[in-house]
Amino acid sequence: MISMSGQPGAFYSRLYFWVYLFPPYVVAALYYLVAWLINPASPSLLGNKGLAFMLLLVLVLVDVNWLSWLGFWLTGITRRKIAPVDGDRLAYEQAVALFNERAQQSATALTGPLEPLPLELIELGAVPYLALGGLGQPRLWLSTHTLRTTDSADLARLLAHEYGHRMEQQRGAGCNFAQLQWWLALPVGWLLCAVSPLLLIAAALVHALIALRVGYHQRLKAESRADRWAADRVGALDYARALAAYHRAVAGARQPGALKQRLVKLGLDPADVAGLLNPPAGAQAGN
Ligand SMILES: [Zn+2]
Repeated sequence: MISMSGQPGAFYSRLYFWVYLFPPYVVAALYYLVAWLINPASPSLLGNKGLAFMLLLVLVLVDVNWLSWLGFWLTGITRRKIAPVDGDRLAYEQAVALFNERAQQSATALTGPLEPLPLELIELGAVPYLALGGLGQPRLWLSTHTLRTTDSADLARLLAHEYGHRMEQQRGAGCNFAQLQWWLALPVGWLLCAVSPLLLIAAALVHALIALRVGYHQRLKAESRADRWAADRVGALDYARALAAYHRAVAGARQPGALKQRLVKLGLDPADVAGLLNPPAGAQAGN
């Protein structure tokens, strides 16, 4: 059982490990294992070709996104859902009603034709958290801390960003190139395996590192597109203020460089960006 209480730093490190680091390493290990199994030079292992075929079938069905969701589940977040049960019922319903009435309504009014997103309220202690995710029907994951400490106007602005992600998803992802590039592991692994199994392991590690790097840049691009979408609807400076306040609450757990890049891409004045990144001492109260 993974403990979920504690500080934002520890929470976000664990989340980063399970959701972003763990999936590409698992996928790399499996693809290069297949490359090793199909090489005739490999020692026999449970009827190599049959095992390789079964692993490939698993890899076609289970992609990195699926493993990210598994990682998300392994962090324990999904077990921190607040269920509307007995003693908590009133508090839960009040929190959800507050959220739906104040933040979700104004967000959907601004974002247009999108359906309101189903809400999963989670208790993470003093950890700010708001994200869109899920296999199949995506849900909003909102920590009680963020619900308590963010005013409704800012929460609606942050929600507009999540609706931006939703809009992008609905446009359709098309062909998943990030998934297809893993097939490169088969010829590369097959050739290297004939030279030395150690080279195969090195290639798997390098492949996973490249996939991580590419994934990071793709995420940053997706964040910027969602930022732009939200800013067009709620106003760039108001949105940037809400975003910067949320990131301050996360307190260094995320790369400050990434926040700066996102603020710059919103087309803000450099002085405004500097002010949002380093607000005067009094302005930080409440976060
Ligand atoms: Zn986002």
